Parts: sequence; C-alpha cells; structure tokens
Amino acid sequence: MSVFEAKRSSINITLEGNESKAALLSCLEKNLSSVSSSNFSVCRICHVNNVPSENLISPCKCKGSLAYVHLSCLEKWINESFRLNCELCGFRYSPVHTQRYTVCESIRVWLLHPRNKIHMQADVLIAILLTLVTIGLTTVCFIGMDHFIIEGNQAGISSHWIKAAVYIFLAIVIVGYILSLYLLFRNQFVPWYTWWKATVELKLCQAPANDSEIIP
Ligand SMILES: [Zn+2]
Ligand SMILES: [Zn+2]
Repeated sequence: MSVFEAKRSSINITLEGNESKAALLSCLEKNLSSVSSSNFSVCRICHVNNVPSENLISPCKCKGSLAYVHLSCLEKWINESFRLNCELCGFRYSPVHTQRYTVCESIRVWLLHPRNKIHMQADVLIAILLTLVTIGLTTVCFIGMDHFIIEGNQAGISSHWIKAAVYIFLAIVIVGYILSLYLLFRNQFVPWYTWWKATVELKLCQAPANDSEIIP
C-alpha cells in the first residue's frame, strides 16, 4: 500500500468516527498537502520526481508543490523561453552563458545542414580545381623552361630575362592560388564561427533561493 493510500485509509477511518463533513474535508486537504510536499514533490515542469541521479531543487521564492524543479528541466525552459525570471514569483535567475557545442560537435552539426554541406562541397571542388591548375602551370613552366629560352633567344631576348619572366609568372600563380584558398577558407570559416559563437546555452550555477530545499 502506498503512502498516499495509507493516508487516505486513515482519513476513511476518521470518517467512520462521525466527524463533520467540513472537518473531514479540511483533514483531507491537510493530509494530501503534507503528502504532496514531503514524499510526492514533483518537478513543476516535467511532473516527475524520480529522475535518476537528479535531485529536485527549489531555485526561486515559490513555495509548496510548485517550488520544486529539476535543474535540467529549468535550464531547458530558460533556453527555450528566453526568460530569466520565474513565471510565478518573478525571482530572477542568474544563468551563465556556455557554448552549446564543442568545436568538433559544432562542425558536425554545421555540416549536417544541407545548405552548409553544399557550400562546403562546392568550395572543396573549387579548391581541388585550383590546385590542379596550379600544379599544371608550375609543371609546364619548369618542363618548358628550355623551350621558352630557345624561343626567346631566337627573338633576341636573353636567357636571364626569360627565366625572370617565367619565375615572376609562377610567383603570381602561386600567390593567386594561396589567396584563393584563403578566401575559400574564410568563406567557410566565418559563417561557421559566427554561428558557433552564437549557439550559447544558459546554465544555472546559483544556490537554491530557499533554504534546505534540495530533495533527493
Ligand atoms: Zn523535471
Ligand atoms: Zn518562483
């Protein structure tokens, strides 16, 4: 027999003892109230008591059966409602901002979004093409250096000037390649970083407002 049923039966016994109806109702309310506030305190958000490894706390000035809540339930409510005050008593919570995701988690979540995934794939494809073009131009410059020198000599240009022109061209290609890679990287990094920094979560780290109000 549960505590609740035990208390109800004790009330029934009292009924048989010819007490007035009003007195019995009063007795019933008192008993149910005491049962509720002691053994049957439930979280005012999820309406559950026995959550493994999580105690009920009383984080605000609310009293009675509405005083108790799980910390995780309250944090979830604060994050979803964007409210920092208790709806009932107006008590202001003091949450701290924490990042919702670690760097690795945030990258995974970011890339799960189809739009971000397509952008990433497009930029990776562009980077691969740029790399192939740069490798191709560099190879052509080195392999064809002798041919360029011969052609230049026939046109009356010295070998030094031709080599200098080829190296300057290569330098421009490589600088352009590095710059393009940097812009592609920034194109991916900045939106992700801005989003990651904005995905904060509010955590409560305050002591309960009422004294000795943690219920195991
Ligand atoms: Zn809860
Ligand atoms: Zn409150």
